[in-house]
Amino acid sequence: MRHNFGAGPCILPQEVFKQASRAVVDFKDGLSILEISHRSPEFESVIEEASKLVKELLNVPSGYSVLFLQGGASMQFAMVPMNLLPEGKTAAYLETGVWANKAIKEVKYFGQANVVASSKDANFTFIPKDYTIPADSAYFHCTSNNTIYGTEMFDFPDTQVPLVCDMSSDIMSRVVDVSKFDLIYAGAQKNIGPAGLTIVIVKDEILGKTGRAIPSMLDYKQHIDNGSMYNTPPVFSIYVAMLNLNWLKSKGGVAEIEKENKAKAQALYAEIDRNPLFKGTCAVEDRSRMNVCFVMENPELEKPFLKFADENGFEGLKGHRSVGGFRASMYNALPITSVHALIDLMQTFEEKHA
Ligand code: PMP
Repeated sequence: MRHNFGAGPCILPQEVFKQASRAVVDFKDGLSILEISHRSPEFESVIEEASKLVKELLNVPSGYSVLFLQGGASMQFAMVPMNLLPEGKTAAYLETGVWANKAIKEVKYFGQANVVASSKDANFTFIPKDYTIPADSAYFHCTSNNTIYGTEMFDFPDTQVPLVCDMSSDIMSRVVDVSKFDLIYAGAQKNIGPAGLTIVIVKDEILGKTGRAIPSMLDYKQHIDNGSMYNTPPVFSIYVAMLNLNWLKSKGGVAEIEKENKAKAQALYAEIDRNPLFKGTCAVEDRSRMNVCFVMENPELEKPFLKFADENGFEGLKGHRSVGGFRASMYNALPITSVHALIDLMQTFEEKHA
């Protein structure tokens, strides 16, 4: 079996794959999960359980709705300003990478984006910390984990305005205080489940204030009123997400997995810092626990290392094209044994090339 360090879609627990594949063949009375109606009582209980698990695992307070949507996190880049930004008004954005930048680009269709801070000049290798959010901003938007660059926000600002966060690549990996946020969104294909599903957690009271007419499929309120069933939801993705969230619950929930994620990250960063062949690319205090980005002191060794990794059963270690080097993504389902195996691999390579 290969060690899957891919950035997403990514590793999910083996037992989830097995349960999911059984349901493809026989979910209920010989019928596949792929052929039943989304309005059937069987699927109604799946979506209800998935929603309950999101609320339970993240400790979502009352007054928030959990939505199962489509269109990826990228659709949220537009849905957020469409639903929260009154015409001609300004929203504050923190620019911490390509995804944040894509979110910023969508704002112009609805109003203006005020980029309060950016780490673009440093190729997004750190999280800006010194900025003020103007009190008249319609909301403040940030990205909790920058999948491509390997930086993560460990502190969120206290805002007077609604706080909106793209948590695509670290949701369910650590405890967050949801009550601090007004809207959280995440593409599912990292720690939640398969691609094709996007989770939105929204505080109901912030909606309906733009004065804008919103097409039904892009209107959070429509989806809330219809229990995420305004149209046919991504049935299979929701089912697998439910299985995966149940797996997380059985592991002790987010607080327990956070401990494991910390241990995995500490082990790998320690090796990167110790091994003279490798170096990390990000500010130490902002190092992501989900996506560990690193390069080699001698760039000529990068191709041979990647080949060596591939030959030894490692998948998905190539860095994003805008950063180069390597990216080890270590989502919830990646066992610490895979991290230890990667560390061994780095040490064997060191012995060969020191
Ligand atoms: N935001 C972040 C932080 C991401 O990592 C990604 C994709 N990896 C996206 C947004 C875009 O997600 P999607 O492909 O679901 O639109």
